[in-house]
Amino acid sequence: MVCRSVSVGGRRVCDMTSVPRPPRPPSSLSPSRASDFMQCPLLYRFRVIDRLPEKPSEAATRGTLVHAVLERLFDAPAAERTAPRARALVPGQWDRLREARPELAELFAGDEAGERLATWLGEAERLVERWFSLEDPTRLEPVEREMSVETELESGLRLRGVIDRVDVAPTGEVRIVDYKTGKAPRPEYAEGALFQMKFYALVIMRLKKVVPRRLQLVYLGSGDVLTYDPVPADLERVERKLLALWEAITQATETGEWRPRPTKLCGWCDHQAVCPEFGGTPPVYPLPVRPA
Ligand code: SF4
Repeated sequence: MVCRSVSVGGRRVCDMTSVPRPPRPPSSLSPSRASDFMQCPLLYRFRVIDRLPEKPSEAATRGTLVHAVLERLFDAPAAERTAPRARALVPGQWDRLREARPELAELFAGDEAGERLATWLGEAERLVERWFSLEDPTRLEPVEREMSVETELESGLRLRGVIDRVDVAPTGEVRIVDYKTGKAPRPEYAEGALFQMKFYALVIMRLKKVVPRRLQLVYLGSGDVLTYDPVPADLERVERKLLALWEAITQATETGEWRPRPTKLCGWCDHQAVCPEFGGTPPVYPLPVRPA
């Protein structure tokens, strides 16, 4: 089984239904996959090359749902972008998500009375509502929502991703916004959180020849907003980092040497059963290898 990308409310999400696809070498890099490799090269292999299925999680699915609601809210005229209207969008967007990804039904298996689902939907509504204490959508007119971006660097490395929201001021200044349904990181981890945003800023800089004025992370879980104003040197540093990362990924792809890197994040990894760190054996490597 593989994760098939489907569109829900304009957002690309993972559909875990059975769609066999032959393993193939990676051909591009997104912020999530770059983070996977930095976290654990073996996790990257399981996700990108073996394409092992992963169980849907309540937290990730709630994140997808909240993103869909915030995106759809901008369909309404500015004055009607209110918290009650946003909350009212939650059930309908959940229906759409379930239709697009039938495997999500397993999240609430055995919940005949619907109590867990009701609690979960209530949490999604609270996250949506909190957004109104952080931003005022009646005063925003995004030029892009759920914007798919892709660019090819001079080295040939393709970067891609989906940006939650792009605002452009009358002066032409660009702001990239990303919603997070979790809590803001402690200050010492802010750099890691900004990596994804700098990745997007680099893509915009290469695509549009403009350096975004501001990167903004909106944490709905804790009610925080983290901003960063990049300069070209920041983004060039990220580019060099990505090139080095890609070189390491290419080498691992060719040699089949994907090392596990155990951390406390292993607790959230779906692949412990096939991870040597947990006594498992990875599947046979499906790509041709050359000696290391
Ligand atoms: S369990 Fe930990 S070490 Fe093993 S693949 Fe997952 S993240 Fe990597």
